[in-house]
Amino acid sequence: MSDPEKKNGGGPVDNAPILSCHHDGLTIEGYSRAAVQTYWRIPELKIGFDLGAQPWDFMGTPTWFMTHTHLDHIAALPVYVARRRMMRMEPPVIYVPNEAVEDVRRLLLLFQRLDRGRMLCQLNGIAAGDEVELSRELVVTTFATTHTIPSVGYIVWDRRNKLKEEYQGLPGERIRDLRLSGVAVTREVRLPLVAYTGDTSPAGLDNCPAVYEAKVLITELSFIRASHRREKIHKFGHMHLDDLLERADRFKNGLIICAHFSTRYHPQEVRRLVEAKLPPGLRERVKLWI
Ligand SMILES: [Zn+2]
Ligand SMILES: [Zn+2]
Repeated sequence: MSDPEKKNGGGPVDNAPILSCHHDGLTIEGYSRAAVQTYWRIPELKIGFDLGAQPWDFMGTPTWFMTHTHLDHIAALPVYVARRRMMRMEPPVIYVPNEAVEDVRRLLLLFQRLDRGRMLCQLNGIAAGDEVELSRELVVTTFATTHTIPSVGYIVWDRRNKLKEEYQGLPGERIRDLRLSGVAVTREVRLPLVAYTGDTSPAGLDNCPAVYEAKVLITELSFIRASHRREKIHKFGHMHLDDLLERADRFKNGLIICAHFSTRYHPQEVRRLVEAKLPPGLRERVKLWI
C-alpha cells in the first residue's frame, strides 16, 4: 500500500488540493473528504465525477458525471460552468440524476441572474441503467447506489469489436468477403475500466458486479473506527471498513481507491487503522486517498 502523490497543478492557480496516481494507462486525480468536497477526473478519458470544488486545472475536462446533489459533491458546478464560458471554452456536458435535473437547471439560471453571465452547458438527466456513449471505444453506464437522496454510480467501459471465435484463424480476405456479404463476423466485448460509487452504503456496490471487476475502483469509505455502529452508517448511506473487509475476496480490481473519509479522522489514524486490518492480497491494491 502506498499513498497517492500530492499534486500541485503547476499551473498559475492552486485553489484546491489534488492527489494523483497512475494505474495501467489511467491517471486518477482528485480529492474527497465527507462533508468537505469531492471531485475526480481521469484526463485520458476526458471525464470527471462530482464537483464539490473545482481545482482550476480541472477546467479543461469537458464532461462531468454527478453522483448526487449533496453540496460536497456539486457545490462548484455553477462555478465550473461559468469559468468555462469566461475562458471561452466549449460549453461542457453534465449529467445529474433525473430527480435533480430541473432543480439544477433552475440553480444555474439563478446564478446566471446573480452573476450576470450566461450559464452555457448541456445538462442531462440520468438514471440507473442508462448508457452514455463517449466515443466508439468508451461507454459510461450507471448503477443504483444507496444513499439518503437520489444517487447513482458510474462505470466506464472499454468497448471493442472482437472477431467471433468461429472466424478466428481465417485469412483476412475471407473475413472481408464474409463481412461484405452481410455476416456479422464480430461481437462486442466490454471491459470495465473505472467504477465510481459516489456516496453509498454497501448495497450500492453489491448492486453492480462490474464494481468488483473494473480495473480501477473508486469507492467511498466514510467510516473506519470499530466503535461506529454499522446499521447507523448504512442508514445514512455510507460504508464502514468492516463492509470492505467482508467483501475482500470479491474485489478483482487492480487498484482500489478508498476515499471520502469522515472529517473526524486524522490521516494518521486512517492509515494506521486500515493498514492494520487489510488482509494481504487486498492491501497491495488499496490506496488510501487522504
Ligand atoms: Zn459526500
Ligand atoms: Zn452524500
